[in-house]
Amino acid sequence: MAQTIAALSTAPGGAIGIVRISGEQAEEYLSALFTPIGKCPLTPRMLTYGTLTVHGQVIDRPMAVFFPAPATYTGEPMAEIHCHGSSAVLEEALYALFELGARQAQPGEFTRRAFLNGKLDLFAAEAVNDLVCAQSVQAAALATAQLGGHISTEFSKMREKLVSMCAQFLAVIDYPDEEIEDLPLSEMHQTLDEMRDRLATLCDSYQRGRALREGLPCVIVGRPNAGKSTLLNALLGYDRAIVTNIAGTTRDTVEETLRLGGLILRLQDTAGLRETDDPVEQIGVCRAKDAVTLAKETGVVLAVFDGSQPLSEDDRLVIAQVRDAKRAVAVVNKSDLLMQMDLQELTDSFVQVVRLSAKQREGLDILTDTLTDLTGIRDLPQDGGLITNLRQAEILSHTRENLEQACRQLKAGFAPDAIVYEIEQAIESLGRVTGAYVQEDIVDYIFSNFCVGK
Ligand code: GDP
Repeated sequence: MAQTIAALSTAPGGAIGIVRISGEQAEEYLSALFTPIGKCPLTPRMLTYGTLTVHGQVIDRPMAVFFPAPATYTGEPMAEIHCHGSSAVLEEALYALFELGARQAQPGEFTRRAFLNGKLDLFAAEAVNDLVCAQSVQAAALATAQLGGHISTEFSKMREKLVSMCAQFLAVIDYPDEEIEDLPLSEMHQTLDEMRDRLATLCDSYQRGRALREGLPCVIVGRPNAGKSTLLNALLGYDRAIVTNIAGTTRDTVEETLRLGGLILRLQDTAGLRETDDPVEQIGVCRAKDAVTLAKETGVVLAVFDGSQPLSEDDRLVIAQVRDAKRAVAVVNKSDLLMQMDLQELTDSFVQVVRLSAKQREGLDILTDTLTDLTGIRDLPQDGGLITNLRQAEILSHTRENLEQACRQLKAGFAPDAIVYEIEQAIESLGRVTGAYVQEDIVDYIFSNFCVGK
């Protein structure tokens, strides 16, 4: 039987701190420390007011609750003590539990026990961590939808279908008198096609899912004095970067996280991209180029132009540098001044062109809307069908390849054992996503990324 574990589940410094206990002795240990006040005894699932006594001394008047197994988060008996937030009280309560026989829970150990006791699968367990770490309401909503189990159930159904398909092929292999023609091949084909397409959609959603979870790299580029730092400050709502009219003031890359509605942007203001002999500025320009390369592939590029000036050679250098970006917006700044720029070259090179005044903070809402549309976070799937971590994305991509291969072989009339091999691989991969087949060290790794107390 697993030893009873305990941990502080809340961050230090709050008004309330929650000590969590899970294991066979949860109720016994809670009762040793907690005494209800008044007539109300400790009743399962009811938060009860009482005293917390350690070494004969009453040190708090907390609320406590006991959850009998198996209908608990971990599947084991569980208890919680909701103390006042004093770190001294919380530590004392925790040590008293250790003296009684509990041990300190490891990071993610409550959720690991939930997984081992079949309360949630690995996909849902990873959603728990996403929920704890969510930086935006959208990210939280996605993780919550994943916890709801739609996608886990979908994976289980896929596996069941593949297992039954395998069984039919194996019957042909084991009983060679049966003809492969007897199998419902077109039906199988359609099933494999549908699964492969669904997995392709999920794999393709990874960049979006990752952007939602970790934030999207967003680099601000442009020639010196176009207004990049002013734009950064305007988006952040406070003066983060130094703004002057001296070209080359921003010599290094300035990075800040910005929440725009449901979108988390990892904003980078860069040194102005221009040819320069100044060695310090050259380093800044190099860093700017690196940041641009990353944002071109995985994030968003905001290319800032000074609309009060005609397009210059430095501007054309910027256009050339960001041309192959996956998502780029041309920001035509200084809309409060007389427009001197011919926009044709910009509209030829950018799908999105936004006019605004960073200094006057006008037009920023249009930029925000454009960014939200570009990243596609407005239309999140209600069922949680967005892949947010690399482990899942890689496994699903292999599964998709196996199914693709099985489809091809089926079409080409391959022998059943070759097709069975691919389908078995796909079954195993799906099992690795949900944790039905997964190695101990992978499970260790996943839960080690959780915080203590979850
Ligand atoms: P950077 O070198 O691209 O970072 O440019 P800065 O943000 O340092 O701005 C250069 C100059 O342009 C500063 O004097 C800013 O006050 C000015 N500036 C920036 N945005 C605007 C704007 O929208 N309108 C006007 N009129 N001036 C601006």
